[in-house]
Amino acid sequence: MSLKKILIVSGTHGNEINPVWAVNQFSKQKNTIDKNIEYKYIIGNPLAFERGSRYIDNDLNRSFNATKCNRDNSIYEIKRANFLIEKFGFNGIDPCDIAIDLHTTTANMGTSIVMYGRRVKDFCLAALLQHKFGLPIYLHEKDLKQTGFLVEAWPCGLVIEIGSVAQNFYDPKIINRFLIIIGSLRDEINKLKNKQIKLPKDLVIYAHQGSIDYPREKNGNINALIHPERMNQDWRPIKKGDPLFVDMEGNTKPYTGEDTIWPVFIGEVAYKEKNIAMSFTKKELVSVSDYVCEEFFT
Ligand SMILES: [Zn+2]
Repeated sequence: MSLKKILIVSGTHGNEINPVWAVNQFSKQKNTIDKNIEYKYIIGNPLAFERGSRYIDNDLNRSFNATKCNRDNSIYEIKRANFLIEKFGFNGIDPCDIAIDLHTTTANMGTSIVMYGRRVKDFCLAALLQHKFGLPIYLHEKDLKQTGFLVEAWPCGLVIEIGSVAQNFYDPKIINRFLIIIGSLRDEINKLKNKQIKLPKDLVIYAHQGSIDYPREKNGNINALIHPERMNQDWRPIKKGDPLFVDMEGNTKPYTGEDTIWPVFIGEVAYKEKNIAMSFTKKELVSVSDYVCEEFFT
């Protein structure tokens, strides 16, 4: 049985500080190698973490496009992305099989899994965590404006996203949730390898459909807020006519689509610069093969 290496990345966004604390605490308390699985730890964006900012020049978690990585090393995050791939990438100096990227959100998402695209190995890992913790899975795909995510540069990888918590604010409850997940991951993989658990045949996912911006004036200023009925209602379905925004005059702007959708990242502070007020998802069932997953983790 070969040793699997899992790269645990925290501080990919420098102002999301709880994962950094959690990883630090975990690495002090637990062995690096256990159950034939080795954890590697790295702060994704150390300079941004030092400064308490999301990034220096570019969002690191949008800097892993193959084409982008080949150029412009003068951009701090591109240089950092290249370093991480050269060091821990599948063909790197210290290659890792799996990358787990830990993030926090200011949105009321609870603990969730974010997947990028439909890679079978990612579904296995997501199924494992959903089976253990019942976590919702947000599948990000088909969004040409948002690409170059860190975990996509590894053969298998997921984001663990926990909120709500303010940027640069330490919250022991959030830290604890990260500790539980990092701590359980090895045990769960081990159980699956030894056929001690059976993964559910169907995985419930929330597939990305698109994002919407705040209503804006011609000069670009936001002129309506997220409606109070929508605040903190991540993962709760909305249908045609349900309120989305409210302007200064008290006028409501409703959802006008025909299909029921499940919004996520409602009001995420960091997404304002990306012109995203919330993202829409649709619920879907995906089949996962136990056999394929056992093979992968063995
Ligand atoms: Zn983040």
